[in-house]
Amino acid sequence: MVSIDYQGQTIEKQALRYQGKAKQVFQTNDPDILWVHYMDQATALNGKVKEMITGKGELNSAISHLLFDYLTQNGIENHYLTAVSKTDELVTTLDILPIEVVTRNYASGHFVSKFDVTPMQQLTPTVQEFYYKSDALDDPFINDSQILALGYANAVELAQLRQKSQDVNQLLRARFEKIGIHLVDFKLEFGRTRAGKVILADELSPDNMRLVDMRTGASLDKDVFRQHSGDVTIGYQDVLTRLQQED
Ligand code: 5GP
Repeated sequence: MVSIDYQGQTIEKQALRYQGKAKQVFQTNDPDILWVHYMDQATALNGKVKEMITGKGELNSAISHLLFDYLTQNGIENHYLTAVSKTDELVTTLDILPIEVVTRNYASGHFVSKFDVTPMQQLTPTVQEFYYKSDALDDPFINDSQILALGYANAVELAQLRQKSQDVNQLLRARFEKIGIHLVDFKLEFGRTRAGKVILADELSPDNMRLVDMRTGASLDKDVFRQHSGDVTIGYQDVLTRLQQED
């Protein structure tokens, strides 16, 4: 049995509850705490392309922990509780909203293909988009009234998703700018606590954000894997090293 002491309580890793594309989520002996394992796996096209990448789990876990700690210090409530090992963490159990919130500071990815605009043009104001989380449907775009009509979030929660994503953007953008990196765009997920509060969930890593080196224009994120243009872990390691130096 694998366990860890957390705030005077022994937390035991129990049955696998959910197998995601890059993470495994296990139950624990505490119903309010889940045990997350970051896998050495990369996927693209909503899981249709899959590959093992040694070291990616450790890098994503380290980057994510550092950024969650930074957001916590700046008043953004989130599900991250503590690291258990280089690839594992404890998080608060949440009822995850089936919505992905994408924030775009610069044009890239689907925004460029959809509107046929110049890549990396600055977007003012920052663009916010919602997608319905569904691999079977390829995460379709969803608007506010569709979210409300389908009951995926209520009006108060929707406003919170917008505000919290904006706050996260301001904080992360500033943090990355300090280390010479453009935060191009990113995806966030949120969940409800048992008390019904909406807080930030998921991970904060180059798997769900585009990061571009300000000097060279190089991609330091999962686009390297999506475009088969090299070893993704080089960029991820660069991001981690720069964040640690700034810490
Ligand atoms: P795009 O809509 O251009 O494909 O993605 C915009 C941003 O959100 C990118 O940083 C991308 O990594 C992130 N993103 C969008 N959808 C997903 C998803 O289903 N999984 C992950 N990991 N990231 C996503």
